Amino acid sequence: MVVTVVRLAHASSPLNVLYESWPQTDSFIILWASLWRDFEMSKAVLDKDQRKLIDLLSLEEALDDINNLFNIGERAVGTPGEYKGVKLIESRFREIGLKNVHLEPFKIIANNHKLSELELLEPIHKKLSCGRCFGPKHSGFATGKEGVAGAIVDVGFGTIRDFKRLKREGVNFKGKIVLIEVNEKLFHYPAWAQVLQAQEFGASAAILTSVVFEHDILRNYWTRARIPVVSISYIEAQALRRLLRKGEVRANLKNIVELNMESTSHNVVGELPGHKYPHQLIVLTAHHDSWYGAANDDACGVAVIIGVAEVLAKNYKNARTIRFVTCGGEEFSLEPGVEDIFSGLAGSYAYTKQHADELDKIVANINLDGFAYGTSSNITLTPELESLTNKLIEEFEAEAIYEVEGPPDTGLDQWWFVRHGVPSVSINPKMDQYMKIYHSNRDTPELINADLMRNALRMTLALILKLDSSELLPYDFTSTAKNLRKALSERSAKVEDAIDLSKLIDNVIHLKVVAERLQKKKSSALKKKLNEKTVFFVNNVQRRACSSLNPKLVNIKCGITTSAAYVVPAYLDALINLKKAIVAAKRADKETLFTSLKALTEKLWGLNVSPKVYNIIRKAILDSKRAQGLKFDLIPEARELEKKSKKKIKDVSTEIASLEKKYKTILEQVDKKLSKLNQALVESSSALTEVIYKLA
Ligand SMILES: [Zn+2]
Repeated sequence: MVVTVVRLAHASSPLNVLYESWPQTDSFIILWASLWRDFEMSKAVLDKDQRKLIDLLSLEEALDDINNLFNIGERAVGTPGEYKGVKLIESRFREIGLKNVHLEPFKIIANNHKLSELELLEPIHKKLSCGRCFGPKHSGFATGKEGVAGAIVDVGFGTIRDFKRLKREGVNFKGKIVLIEVNEKLFHYPAWAQVLQAQEFGASAAILTSVVFEHDILRNYWTRARIPVVSISYIEAQALRRLLRKGEVRANLKNIVELNMESTSHNVVGELPGHKYPHQLIVLTAHHDSWYGAANDDACGVAVIIGVAEVLAKNYKNARTIRFVTCGGEEFSLEPGVEDIFSGLAGSYAYTKQHADELDKIVANINLDGFAYGTSSNITLTPELESLTNKLIEEFEAEAIYEVEGPPDTGLDQWWFVRHGVPSVSINPKMDQYMKIYHSNRDTPELINADLMRNALRMTLALILKLDSSELLPYDFTSTAKNLRKALSERSAKVEDAIDLSKLIDNVIHLKVVAERLQKKKSSALKKKLNEKTVFFVNNVQRRACSSLNPKLVNIKCGITTSAAYVVPAYLDALINLKKAIVAAKRADKETLFTSLKALTEKLWGLNVSPKVYNIIRKAILDSKRAQGLKFDLIPEARELEKKSKKKIKDVSTEIASLEKKYKTILEQVDKKLSKLNQALVESSSALTEVIYKLA
């Protein structure tokens, strides 16, 4: 009993202090417990009826849905397996009472996997089952039925140094099968850089392994190389290395994959039409395509969508339209005819294209992907939904479970919504935990953390209920302004000689004041009856502010990368580091020069590939139409400087001149981006100020 009461009292609450000094008899404790409960209820985010709906969620049913999807087996995009998943979800959507249930087809390139196998021929005979490696638009990664035979060479991490060293030692790679240890710290673009390099040195096939592949872990890797590739578990790789130390090992490698350039995938769509604001949408997304059965990635997301939809369909009258979408082709695909390093997310890409005229009516996208393994999940969101999300986390006492961290991710279906300015929250895995089972046959229902499932179910339902029931949309631009202000004030002094941020900072401060006043006005407005026109006006302006601000706050990271970042800190840091590097180069301060360049070039510095391979990667990224943003390339200068420093060559004026030239270009681009942001801030602030007057 006492234990329960103590847990009820919040450590941070002032009541807690009082409680400590009160006589702790049973009756007092009971009195306190009830008083505390009333106090908690009064500040609760969810009301009684909403709480009741949350209690109706069924974890067991959701776990059943995970099992049923898992039992279909692999649901790779465009394959019969994916279609089975599609039909299962479609029938579940109908069964639970969703309206307008239908499939939305889109064209994609599909890889239909048949067999991956490594057969050791000498000195022992043994067949190893393997993970697959796919490519997006050509079949060079596959073999014919007969496979490729050759002697195996262990090339370590497969860096350019590894290949050169082995060549010096007399290894001829022609016709060899190379064993590569994948290390994502060394190579930003997993595996395909090393495989390309193996191909350049004449190898005829490659085997990938990684220390994160446990005993029975197999994994797919995508590759741009035109030699066949498979992957094996680490324990098998170690056994292979023991054999290699004793002498030559010969093997036959098969990776039989049918490439279908004109396949079809589907998004499954169902909805609950809103009775008050049918044209305003809350869009839920998860993906049904998968590698292997994928209980976690992403049968769990689909199961949450079904579970939440069922409770709503049977027990709730929604004001806005709630749309439930499971996407195909998230893991891996492209539209035929599109060449882009930014592949995957085909379903959400198709959805946002096919529903382009509706995007500005989407109140929020809630995305669920691969969150149910390990001990905690990650949340990525656009800033105006941060405060609502945090309040719900607190309400569910789920602080230990969720970390709201980082910008919306380019590797998630939420990206195509965010790209169009749609507010979005996504519940995702903690990647460091998830790597253990990532895209492997270990992603099974037994490893689903029921507690993470339960929390995702209730967080999702609670978000929908709040977004649906709030007459005035519960966006809070205070977080937008606060985050931005912090990012700017931390950096303004460091860039002041190049860029004047004072106007921008003033405008951010102004937005903060407006946002705070708006929050107050909105909560006092809730107490009175608002006319429909006012509600429409307020929501329309709020939503337009999201569309205007978000694409300028979150974008593809600067540099050669396809990951997302908060624009202002990332871009300003790029300038700061580049400036530091230039100054250090002029002073011949090698240490500062290399640390600042490394901070800029990130993992790319460690590509450790030949210039030819590097140029292929560089071209792929710079040519990417989907990964727009600020793209620049400092690797050539960085490499040249490193080379000269090793050779003790003092004259680095060419490199300095080149860095200075790039600094100027980047500065111009950043300036343009920040002035667009400035304009959006001014416009949003004045529009939101109008809202405040309207609510007065
Ligand atoms: Zn996923």
